[in-house]
Amino acid sequence: MTPFLLILSSPSGAGKTTIARALLAARDDVGYSISATTRPPRPGEKDGVDYYFVTEDEFRRKRDAGEFLEWAEYSGYLYGTLRSEVDRVLASGKHVVLDIDVQGARAIRERRDDVVSIFILPPSVEELLARLGGRGGNPPADLERRLRRAVEEVECAAEYDYIIVNADRTQAVAEVAAILEAEGRKTSRQADLLAGLGRFQRELIQAADRLSGK
Ligand code: 5GP
Repeated sequence: MTPFLLILSSPSGAGKTTIARALLAARDDVGYSISATTRPPRPGEKDGVDYYFVTEDEFRRKRDAGEFLEWAEYSGYLYGTLRSEVDRVLASGKHVVLDIDVQGARAIRERRDDVVSIFILPPSVEELLARLGGRGGNPPADLERRLRRAVEEVECAAEYDYIIVNADRTQAVAEVAAILEAEGRKTSRQADLLAGLGRFQRELIQAADRLSGK
């Protein structure tokens, strides 16, 4: 099966990072594209695991060297998808999970056609606020910025191939997994299987010949 890029976007706090992590833990046919960012780490986040935490200078250097497939500014910080990350995961034969914002999703869709995109919605504004409030390290001004940004992000939901409402994490992960399964079975992604059909036909002919006593 030909691996593809699986983009997950959502308003901040809708749970896409948790869904992405759960998907990665549950399946061995997906890998994660670790983005670079100038945002400081939140408590518990690790460099080289959650993000590559870089300075603005480092980020600009990478950008100018063409190391990013896309990059965007979000809530005052820079975020970028490294080409090397996408290539690393694809080379291992796995689908690439990208947890990126709507601008990044748009840019990647324009540049590549091996993309499946999912927009994740929170079940309600109350739930979104509760999840954002429970997250350590987000000052109130940042929280407000993220909510205002969410208004614009929801506007872009219609650009995505699929929309999922994350009311229950287990259910949401199952829905993403179902999309992954179905997308992987698209004829265009099964070149190996198509290439083997000639042999299958020859075996069918042999079986029919045996029955007819040829
Ligand atoms: P956070 O600061 O909450 O980790 O991420 C803020 C937003 O930036 C989220 O919507 C997240 O999906 C997005 N993001 C993370 N990495 C990238 C990236 O490499 N490119 C883009 N365009 N957005 C990203």
